[in-house]
Amino acid sequence: MSISPLINRRDLDFLVFDWLQAERLCERPRHAEHTRATLSAAIDTAEAVARDRFAPLNRLCDEHEPRFDGERVHLPPEVGDALRAYCDAGLLAASHDFELGGMQLPTLVAQACGSLFKAANIAISSYAGLTQGNANVILRFGTEAQRQRYLPHLLSGRFMGTMALTEPQAGSSLADIRTTATPMGEGRYAIKGQKIFISAGDHALSENIVHLVLARLPDAPPGVKGISLFIVPKFRVHDDGQLGPHNDVNLAGLIHKMGWRGTTSTMLSFGERDACHGELIGPPHQGLACMFQMMNEARIGVGMGAAMLGYRGYLAALDYARDRPQGRLPDSKNPQEPQRKLIEHADVRRMLLAQKAYVEGGYALCLYAARLVDDQHTHPDEAQRQEAALLLDVLTPIVKSWPSQWCLAANDLAIQVHGGYGYTREYPVEQFYRDNRLNPIHEGTHGIQAMDLLGRKMLMQQGAGMALLAHRMSQTIQATHLNPMLQEMAEAVRAALADLQSTLAVLHPVLAEDPVRGLANAAVFLEACGHTVLAWLWLEQARVAASALSAGPHADEAAFLEGKLQACRYFCRWELPRTQAQYALLRTLDETPLDMIAGWF
Ligand SMILES: Cc1cc2nc3c(=O)[nH]c(=O)nc-3n(C[C@H](O)[C@H](O)[C@H](O)COP(=O)(O)OP(=O)(O)OC[C@H]3O[C@@H](n4cnc5c(N)ncnc54)[C@H](O)[C@@H]3O)c2cc1C
Repeated sequence: MSISPLINRRDLDFLVFDWLQAERLCERPRHAEHTRATLSAAIDTAEAVARDRFAPLNRLCDEHEPRFDGERVHLPPEVGDALRAYCDAGLLAASHDFELGGMQLPTLVAQACGSLFKAANIAISSYAGLTQGNANVILRFGTEAQRQRYLPHLLSGRFMGTMALTEPQAGSSLADIRTTATPMGEGRYAIKGQKIFISAGDHALSENIVHLVLARLPDAPPGVKGISLFIVPKFRVHDDGQLGPHNDVNLAGLIHKMGWRGTTSTMLSFGERDACHGELIGPPHQGLACMFQMMNEARIGVGMGAAMLGYRGYLAALDYARDRPQGRLPDSKNPQEPQRKLIEHADVRRMLLAQKAYVEGGYALCLYAARLVDDQHTHPDEAQRQEAALLLDVLTPIVKSWPSQWCLAANDLAIQVHGGYGYTREYPVEQFYRDNRLNPIHEGTHGIQAMDLLGRKMLMQQGAGMALLAHRMSQTIQATHLNPMLQEMAEAVRAALADLQSTLAVLHPVLAEDPVRGLANAAVFLEACGHTVLAWLWLEQARVAASALSAGPHADEAAFLEGKLQACRYFCRWELPRTQAQYALLRTLDETPLDMIAGWF
């Protein structure tokens, strides 16, 4: 089976450099040692390691699930080699300080590098992503001693990290967590409880595993306000980094999954022998707020993973459609005429164009979010830093959910383009679909993201986040509506934004008075708002493409740019109109699902 390209590199460069202007980030003191050439070189390195070391293992990891022999968890040995190559290339600490062994890359570029690994092998890339997120929490909330004890080892790959939130009775509802932390003196706590679905929770890929565990102190108030965060290593760690005894963190079982099989999914038991020690990180009872740093990063990571799995499927479908002859066009009457390639059939083009619109759109959305992280942390102007943080906050549920829904839909279409062959294990598209099916579930399900968007993000700071989003969208409309190439699309985005705003005007009072009714159709709102945001980002891409086209580029480049414009047209003509029905339904405050009482099913 041939390995289709990981990604269209021209698209990556278009989004990162032409649109989001990564080079301008080198003007900021934190990235002053970088240039366009060093940023591109980092992406080249990532592409080479992802293509040569991660991608060839994608099917292997799927077919050889992690196995527990009663003592240790086994993965194919090549997985450890691939991760070592990743660490040796300096990619684990890509965005961290030079002093910590990092490259001080802008988040935008670090995310672009990461996207290539997600495209190559989502399961292996999870070990790295979780370790990075874990290290970032310790960097931000840990004491100096905790940073020194854990950070160098996490950022070098000697230790790896997890996030241990979920319990059997507490999945979406973290308020119901029962794991306990009892003070033992000298800053140590005895941890006791069960966690489930913990990704990368056990393996032998690193010397140690550092779990970030949500648990309750004895005096904790009920609910989310009584949750604290603890560092709980598998092996205790001395101040000099040497490993101490096993810390009574035990594998209670491996979970066998539909996809994403190269990442161990574990049930973990903490403190079975009352010998599990944890260290409090961050203030007591504010563990969820600290953990949200990792969860928010992880949510961009989930969106990016979904976009990349969709992208791989799209490129595989494109290759296949260019190659396979089948049938003739509707106006052909001669059965002896040679068969046409699949890509010549209008319906196959429809499926390919939909995939392109979803995956390149989803990729743009995630990279835009990464650019906001850069502005939040390094923009020279404080007001701009705050704006970026606010916009990122509003967009996070969409960044997590939109690619998880629509790039999964792209994987579905990629199978369809392959016909019967797509349903077989001889072709990679079925695995992309299975791997991607996780994304609407973990890191807050689709339904939970929907309630977060409508019930919290749209209301926060008296609607300031939504007002800022509308302002940014209006700026793009302003910049495009007089251009004959873009006028029609600008008008469509303007109409969708107006629809969104008038829908919110109807929903706002209901959300305050009767949240059960107000939030009942939140998932419809998430989809409509998500499509509206994506139409805006497609218009942004079209703006850049139209301007580049007017300079008369060479034929290949012109074809790439025309493709961007056509995908924007497709999105505005075929996709965006579905929001009209969704917004109209939302404005009626329809209660059909809400009124469907349990006994009627
Ligand atoms: C492969 C995999 C990897 C994972 N990795 C990790 C990890 O590393 N660390 C970790 O801590 N967790 C992890 N998880 C757990 C994951 O975050 C949870 O599965 C997820 O949050 C949902 O919880 P649940 O499975 O208990 O489903 P439930 O919470 O029972 O939800 C079931 C359904 O009910 C809906 N629902 C639930 N509550 C509400 C509500 N109040 N209103 C409306 N609808 C609701 C949900 O949207 C969903 O559709 C992982 C899960 C999987 C499958």
